[in-house]
Amino acid sequence: MASVRVSTSLMLGMCAALLAASATAAEVNLYTIREPGLIKPMLDAFTEKTGIKTNTIFLKDGLAERVAAEGANSPADILMTVDVGNLVDLADKGLTQPIKSSALDAAVPANLRDPEGRWYALSLRGRLVYVAKAHKLTAIAYEDLADPKWKSKICIRSGQHPYNTALTAAMIAKHGETKAEDWLRAVKANLARKPTGGDREVARDILGGVCDIGVGNSYYVGLMRSGAGGPDQKKWGDSVDIVLPKFAGGGTHVNISGAALAKNAPNRDSALKLLEFLASDEGQKLYAEANFEYPVKKGVKTSPIIEDLGQLNVDAMSLADVAKYRKQASALADKVGFDN
Ligand code: FE
Repeated sequence: MASVRVSTSLMLGMCAALLAASATAAEVNLYTIREPGLIKPMLDAFTEKTGIKTNTIFLKDGLAERVAAEGANSPADILMTVDVGNLVDLADKGLTQPIKSSALDAAVPANLRDPEGRWYALSLRGRLVYVAKAHKLTAIAYEDLADPKWKSKICIRSGQHPYNTALTAAMIAKHGETKAEDWLRAVKANLARKPTGGDREVARDILGGVCDIGVGNSYYVGLMRSGAGGPDQKKWGDSVDIVLPKFAGGGTHVNISGAALAKNAPNRDSALKLLEFLASDEGQKLYAEANFEYPVKKGVKTSPIIEDLGQLNVDAMSLADVAKYRKQASALADKVGFDN
């Protein structure tokens, strides 16, 4: 999404000025790496509903480093990011505080939040299979990607990308490190090309006949098929079938976007209200739809393009447990020479 990014230090300065000017008005300061266009609709809806003003600092990366550097004087109330690893890092670095909210606990399933309440998922992205229509594939287990029948047929991005290390971490959590290594080695042996590019290039290369099957996130299907990424991407998205894979005996691997309450949040009550709004039916719909993600809350619908992919059955394993194996997963990708 094209958007002008004001330098973050300038934005922080503006934010501090705003804070000083309106110290009595209810407001909340959000630090996020998400695109402005994705979160503006829900922040506007929140302000309209509650009268609480939101100040947002958009960071490209380095969220944890930024908040750590600001220390006790950080104006940050809410830290919002993507990938469970980044949320766990925030908590591990002591940059968050536990949340106690029955509304959040009711909306966000227990396996999609920190057991100590230090972070909560707010949206989900499934790690899905894109496949050439000729295969008429309707179901597959992640484990089956190691099947030699896919020899020279798989496209996937780097084995070190967080989307893939999270999947491998889940494989380790499910089957142990030895079996996960065998799996990763076999998937590597099935690759049609070097694991490079992004998830959308998997669809492009299936259309181009480079590969037959690959792995990509669910929201890229929405970004491609909606035409949001332009006519070429629409062609890529429309040219592939999408299968929601499962672990053998389990469900679909998801990663998350999520949020945490900052350790030194100056506007704790307003921050909690915003988090609870984001987990409400209204907030969930606005947030999930904006980037073709799945809501975390049961019963909330998302974009029709994503609904059409079929029922998502999220794997029951706790993402907090999966995240513990991230380092091992990354080491395995090196060990099997996944990206070579
Ligand atoms: Fe992505």
